[in-house]
Amino acid sequence: MTQRHNLIAENVSCKYGDTLIVDSANLTLTPGKITALLGPSGAGKSTLLRLFSGLETPSSGRVLHGDTVLSDDHIMIPAERRRIGIVFQDFALFPNLTATQNIAFGLAHLPQPERLALAADWLARISLSARADAYPHQMSGGEQQRVTIARALAPDPVALLMDEPFSGLDPALRDDVRQTALSAIQSLGIPALLVTHDAAEAMLHADHLAIMHAGKISQQGTPDTLYTQPKDEATATALGPIIKLTAHHNTTTGEIETPLGNIPAPASFAPTKAPFTLGLRPEAFTLDPSSTVQAQVRSARRNGPLTELKIEREGTNATLLVPSNTDTPPSGTIGLRLNPALCFVL
Ligand code: ADP
Repeated sequence: MTQRHNLIAENVSCKYGDTLIVDSANLTLTPGKITALLGPSGAGKSTLLRLFSGLETPSSGRVLHGDTVLSDDHIMIPAERRRIGIVFQDFALFPNLTATQNIAFGLAHLPQPERLALAADWLARISLSARADAYPHQMSGGEQQRVTIARALAPDPVALLMDEPFSGLDPALRDDVRQTALSAIQSLGIPALLVTHDAAEAMLHADHLAIMHAGKISQQGTPDTLYTQPKDEATATALGPIIKLTAHHNTTTGEIETPLGNIPAPASFAPTKAPFTLGLRPEAFTLDPSSTVQAQVRSARRNGPLTELKIEREGTNATLLVPSNTDTPPSGTIGLRLNPALCFVL
């Protein structure tokens, strides 16, 4: 097995003409971890993936594999010499080859019996042994994408880069294919990049998450950190809806006061006299009849395990999410308690 190293983008930029598509990106892909790169269409995610792979040349900065420079101002190791596996959204299998032959394709350096044995081993790992002799047109999209990922992993690449690999799949199949594929990748212990525009996919599956907007990585960290402590509104909304409240710092009590309740000021809070915006997640409220913060329910809709509550208090409106753990949704006047863990200063 090849030694595992980080795959690193160090201050990497990429220009098309005068337009900066990737702007000073720093991202380290760690062995055995799934790093997700999340952002809207056109943010520069695929371009950063291409910079890692060697399909694109940086206009400045460096790409490294461990201590080895793959690209910088002077060096450009071509994609085919980097031994980095790439998986795109379209399954791109060879149509005239069976599942086994597709996986064995990248193993030309091995004697035939070993190639076939390794291909059979990969088919088992992706739970497709029964489809060994099927041609791509005889397989479902999910089966094809599993074979594509096995084909990329079989030659023991130093890293795997995936560009929206699951977004072409039927939602009913997607979870299963994704779980099988990501487990196979993690078992190899190589660095893996998952480019996606799907926040739920990124939060559920990433060990490390980077958010990209207009060519820049705005924030990176664990999914939990980014969800609960986003640095700005764009990063916050990339991971889900937020409620914005006008807030004041009460220097006497040390609390942050909002129309929907108060929270202790966090340790990192820089005291200010000016009003500011407190962001919070819709699930940041607990219903508590004894709370001094009483609000009116304007509408309530059960949406599976969560109920969407539109509430009003003294002219402030908000849409909350509360657990659907009662037979009828809350109505009338309710008491609200704000959970500071899901609040952040914007
Ligand atoms: P994402 O993957 O986040 O959707 P991309 O990296 O594909 O974003 O593209 C980022 C921006 O770069 C887009 O505005 C796109 O139009 C532009 N772009 C991508 N490839 C090229 C190219 N070869 N020439 C010029 N512009 C490009």
